[in-house]
Amino acid sequence: MLFLLDLFKKYSYNIYEMEKEIVKTFKVKLNISPENREKLDKTLFEYNNLLNYLSSIAWDKKITNKVKLHHLTYYPAREKFNLPAQFVCSARDVVCDRMRAIIKRKRKSKPQFKKPFLRYDVRTITFKEGYCSLSTSFGRIKTKIIPYDYLNQHKDWTLTNTPTLIKRNKDFYLCLHFKKTVVLKEPSILIGVDLGIKNISVTSDNKFFSGGYLTYKSNHFFRLRKALQAKGTPSAKRVLKRISGREKRFKLDYLHQKSKELVQYVSELQNPCIVFEKLQGIREQKSKGRKMNRKLSTWTFRKFQELVTYKANQIGVPVAFVDARYTSQKCSRCGNILKSQRTGNTFKCKACGFELNADLNGARNIRKNFTEGQAPQVGLSVNQPLSSAFVTTS
Ligand SMILES: [Zn+2]
Repeated sequence: MLFLLDLFKKYSYNIYEMEKEIVKTFKVKLNISPENREKLDKTLFEYNNLLNYLSSIAWDKKITNKVKLHHLTYYPAREKFNLPAQFVCSARDVVCDRMRAIIKRKRKSKPQFKKPFLRYDVRTITFKEGYCSLSTSFGRIKTKIIPYDYLNQHKDWTLTNTPTLIKRNKDFYLCLHFKKTVVLKEPSILIGVDLGIKNISVTSDNKFFSGGYLTYKSNHFFRLRKALQAKGTPSAKRVLKRISGREKRFKLDYLHQKSKELVQYVSELQNPCIVFEKLQGIREQKSKGRKMNRKLSTWTFRKFQELVTYKANQIGVPVAFVDARYTSQKCSRCGNILKSQRTGNTFKCKACGFELNADLNGARNIRKNFTEGQAPQVGLSVNQPLSSAFVTTS
């Protein structure tokens, strides 16, 4: 398909050098002896205090620069806290990173560290044959990593220099961050994908993925929440909190599964490129009632796109985002735009009489928006290279 190649060239997508760095976090449980557990606990406790100490100083003086904070705090911190020098440096980096993020988001209060964690680096942690050796305030400890197999399976990934130690429900975990550079394959087929409620995704080449179960479960959780909120008792509030966690986990699992199905389908085509519409708020939100808004959660769709992009990029499939304008109102055959052409699940063009499933019509429009060259205008600021229309989310 020559036209597609020309199209990519026209918009300066450098398809021959489409490299993406993808990252992945994996949580491994550590097998810690009771004696070492105490050492880690104490170290985490000290480190957490140090973070809050540094955060107060950085916030008062509005410091985001690592060198500046270092000069101001290194010696007092060494004296005040029973921690190795490298942890003082690592905590300083964490606080500076957090300060930058907080200033960027215009937050009005200093960074606070509640849940204990510790950022390691190449000097404070080493790995060897299923074991890792961790620095603590009481010297190094050696611990077994479970499961080690996972690390073996990811030999083509690079372990980044900053594993993080966390403690959840009395267990210690190491969050390992992996990265890998993938080369995206030069696409020859464009697959427009429309997202919706009845069908979580529909491709422009007529493949439907039902989203019915998600709606069903969402309604179930919604009714449960309503009933518990009406009760308002302390025990109802506790249950409410538990349920909201359960709902989140369900949704995420579901989206993982559905994004996997879509990527699996697309991967069987020859050199595909997935095209999504760019979610800005959510289209048509204003005209829909509250019940609809609940179903059309932007979070859900955004997460879905994020997961698909991530999974697709991993196997070298590029993902592009295009302008969503008129995708649901336009006739995918003749291009006639009219609001009233959609009734329920059916799209019927008032100009040419073309009739099609509304979601499928949407998916074909998304594909068309790309080939008709709307892609480069979308969501890109003036100085950004056009190739960044390929978005990777990790
Ligand atoms: Zn038409």
